Amino acid sequence: MELSVIIPIYNEEANIAELYQRLLGVLEPMALPGGFELVFVNDGSRDQSLPLLLNLAARDERVRYIDFSRNFGHQIAVTAGLDRSQGEAVVIIDADLQDPPELIPLLYQKMHEGFEVVYAKRRSRQGDSAAKKLTARVFYRLLARITSVSIPVDTGDFRIISRKVVDGLRLMPEQNKFIRGQISWIGYRQTFIEYDRAGRGGGETGYTYRKMLRFALDGITAFSDVPLKAATLMGFTVSGVAFLVGIYTLYARFFTRDYEPGWASLMVSILFLGGVQLISVGIIGEYIARLSANVRQRPLYLISNTNTASLPSPPAH
Ligand code: UDP
Ligand code: MG
Repeated sequence: MELSVIIPIYNEEANIAELYQRLLGVLEPMALPGGFELVFVNDGSRDQSLPLLLNLAARDERVRYIDFSRNFGHQIAVTAGLDRSQGEAVVIIDADLQDPPELIPLLYQKMHEGFEVVYAKRRSRQGDSAAKKLTARVFYRLLARITSVSIPVDTGDFRIISRKVVDGLRLMPEQNKFIRGQISWIGYRQTFIEYDRAGRGGGETGYTYRKMLRFALDGITAFSDVPLKAATLMGFTVSGVAFLVGIYTLYARFFTRDYEPGWASLMVSILFLGGVQLISVGIIGEYIARLSANVRQRPLYLISNTNTASLPSPPAH
């Protein structure tokens, strides 16, 4: 198998037919020696996505599907696709036509110039709300500042990766997936091409703000300890200030004798200290929650039905 295309599906009934046609429209003319497969991962859709996929699979043997037992989330859906795709090269693409399938030949060609990863970087971004664009912009720049692996900014999961990279990803068992970060961590030669991102073909986003926040925290906690260190730094700073204020208080009490009851300053410092402590505990909590999720070692996903075969795990390096 030369090429696998992994497509996570969550309530995409409005896009599946067009997506399938456009994928065939670019993949068939490529005349790939070993052929290609389309791996659709149905992530607990509540609409007619599954019947549409089953129908495609019945007509076209290049169509593979993995049907989850419930909604596990976009990153886990892609992970399942990676676990069960056979291609020497693997493309990850959104189902909503925001990632143009027409870019695949270019990604493929660029890979054969000697790269293991070619990601597609958004030059512009249509259709998403202003709030989404702004939060994404801020998030990617913040992440770039606080991580030591360089995760490209303004880049989603739309990319082509080689079998080597797929094997690398399959060796990373973490529960809280941030695949674009993991791929940067893996290394090898990586490059990018730029494109203008369109709006959704149809349907609506499956990423609520809640899911986006969780995703952002997964990215940060998996690739940076800076928030923990910032909590420590914040603690020292506040203690330092408190120490100076303490000295001043003693001085005022014993040497000047013009001290006031001081309700306002007392309230302000109590509230401020309480806030700092809660933030620090919260930051630690975010890390501990992820630690405990990994300790439980639950399977990442459960499959209800599929026409894909499970593959042996890659050799450990
Ligand atoms: N998706 C998924 N599970 C989810 C949410 C989204 O598999 O819980 C899929 C969705 O069908 C699409 C891709 O992930 O193929 C990107 O999602 P979406 O377009 O909703 O996100 P956005 O582009 O708004 O960030
Ligand atoms: Mg989208």
